[in-house]
Amino acid sequence: MQYALVNNERHLPQPQLRGLCPACGRECLPKCGSKIAWHWAHHGKFHCDPWWENETDWHRNWKSLFPEKLREIVHFDSSTGEKHVADIKTERGLVIELQHSPMPLEELQSRERFYGRMIWIVDAKGFAANFEIQKAPLPHPQADLLKDVVFFPNCASAFWRKSEQMVGSALAELHDSKLIADQVAENYRGHHFFTWKKPRSVWFDSTMPVFFDFGDETLLRLCQYGDSGQWCVQRIGKRALVVKNGGVYLS
Ligand SMILES: [Zn+2]
Repeated sequence: MQYALVNNERHLPQPQLRGLCPACGRECLPKCGSKIAWHWAHHGKFHCDPWWENETDWHRNWKSLFPEKLREIVHFDSSTGEKHVADIKTERGLVIELQHSPMPLEELQSRERFYGRMIWIVDAKGFAANFEIQKAPLPHPQADLLKDVVFFPNCASAFWRKSEQMVGSALAELHDSKLIADQVAENYRGHHFFTWKKPRSVWFDSTMPVFFDFGDETLLRLCQYGDSGQWCVQRIGKRALVVKNGGVYLS
């Protein structure tokens, strides 16, 4: 943890200090070695929050984009007495959870239920080699164009038209998407199909916005492509997301 309570105030770790965990109130010790990122830890390897992940540089980098008062915010459900530490909570009450490791479905569901209004930022570097975004752009899922145009499953470079399909037949002529490139470009909002070998399928069950962070300036938001049942991603600028939520992004 970056913060513990010292004299009832949130405090960064310093050698010699003693602090209390803001979630459980137990004593925390400052870990201030020359080769580690300074942090607070409970005694032993214990952490009171079962959802807590060992913090990586990736977590720290994300948290550092937001003001200190928005980081590691204790969230308390007064009806159940349950307490957890949200990675980031914005002024508007949106929780931003940073997830590095794979996670069981039950935990995903509990966390979404507990926080209510939240988004996930997922460290995607661990599966980047298995994930490929298709180059061909898609029109956004609400585009009028899609009333007639249907893309070939998981392939934005070929399509057929509902208007050309003969009644009672499943057959329709396939066209090259270059034919509608101008209309696609006009309706492009960053959507692409993707292929993902050995996917971390838990993310398809999320009911909250999920953003994959592959370590560059663009996040990929996982979304369904209209009501086609297909999945796509939408490119979202990292800066835009951070700034919109009260952070500061210097690239
Ligand atoms: Zn604790």
